[in-house]
Amino acid sequence: MRVESSDAGPMVEARDAFSQEAVMPGGGSLSLVGLDRAQIAARLASIGIPEKQLRMRTVQLWSWIYGHGAGSFDAMTNIAKSLRTELESRFTIARPKIDSEQVSSAGTRKWLLRLPSSGDRDKAPEIETVYIPEAGRGTLCISSQIGCTLTCTFCHTGTQRLVRNLTAGEIVGQILLARDRLGDWPGAPVPEPSHGLPTSERKITNIVLMGMGEPLYNFENVKAAMDIAADGEGLSVSRRRITLSTSGVVPAIERTGAEMGVMLAISLHAVRDELRDVLVPINRKYPIAELLDACRNYPGLSNARRITFEYVMLKGVNDSVAEAKELVRLLAGIPAKINLIPFNPWPGAPYECSDWEQIERFAEIVNRAGYASPIRTPRGRDIMAACGQLRSASEKLKASLREANVALPANVSGTVS
Ligand code: SAH
Ligand code: SF4
Repeated sequence: MRVESSDAGPMVEARDAFSQEAVMPGGGSLSLVGLDRAQIAARLASIGIPEKQLRMRTVQLWSWIYGHGAGSFDAMTNIAKSLRTELESRFTIARPKIDSEQVSSAGTRKWLLRLPSSGDRDKAPEIETVYIPEAGRGTLCISSQIGCTLTCTFCHTGTQRLVRNLTAGEIVGQILLARDRLGDWPGAPVPEPSHGLPTSERKITNIVLMGMGEPLYNFENVKAAMDIAADGEGLSVSRRRITLSTSGVVPAIERTGAEMGVMLAISLHAVRDELRDVLVPINRKYPIAELLDACRNYPGLSNARRITFEYVMLKGVNDSVAEAKELVRLLAGIPAKINLIPFNPWPGAPYECSDWEQIERFAEIVNRAGYASPIRTPRGRDIMAACGQLRSASEKLKASLREANVALPANVSGTVS
């Protein structure tokens, strides 16, 4: 079954059914992760914390959870033991459960996370979170939904049925978990394996909503999670270092700038409606001209805060010189960056990646027009962590490992379960 999409987002039902108060595995307590301060205070009031202590306790909890990375209430040493025990019995701040952790030869890490089931339709839901280290910076790619309702023909996630929206806690939980595994909390030891980690003090300097799912079909939860990610008394990732990638949910684009204030990336991939209708079918609802109008009006847009246009290079489909010229023409006047993405193949994909020479020809036209179009190198291909390879690819990898009865291939250095 594929859930139909609508302007309001296809997930209204799911949003109601799976609110932020997700029951976490192991104890049935309510998670405090993903709640804003007022919601945390309300939870504390519900267990009898006196009104006059609520603000102070909320500040303490916030700082422990998001500033210090406490994984349990017991670690919160400036809170009386009896209250810690009470909190432990009523709430949780546990991370999503890691099903597997893979580390590529270049240090890209991919975590397959198992989330609590919400019923029959998602018996053992899994999502993926990917960390891509580079010199002096590290980018965490997080998921916003389990699967995706959209059906972009080049994207593996698009071939899978949507299971549900992630809660704000599950979105923030990916960041907490990655910081745990990367030793990215103040005073935390460097973890093993440590190869490929950036030399910067902070291991996660940037966040991209480019994992599974269409973030603008899960707007409220993504917004709540990004508010927490950007909070200066906690995770402190600047909104300028958070990029939300959308396939083009036009009615939600203005709100994204106004309410989230994050950087925007658009999965453009074609310069003509006939082709984009096929590659990114949401284009039938919101065609290129409307999408680009929404981009021109994106709140906060400036030369210092450009929109990134993503363009996946598909051999013989969208990679001609004429299309490169048209791309440049279309984007004229919009403060833009262009990311050319070599297509990442997946089993049964109906496309091939453009030849390298063709990508270079395309890039040259884009470069000559003044765009420093980096060709996004496909990091993490060896652990199936590259864009559009997410989810079932790793299941396939695990299955083949099981079949072959081997521990791990040479380029995968560890599994945690
Ligand atoms: N749903 C959102 C965000 C997730 S997809 C969106 O579509 O923008 C993140 C990026 O990966 C998008 O630009 C998407 O077009 C790209 N992508 C998907 N499948 C890909 C593949 N097989 N090869 C390369 N890029 C891919
Ligand atoms: Fe969904 Fe984005 Fe994949 Fe399209 S490219 S199917 S919107 S995850």
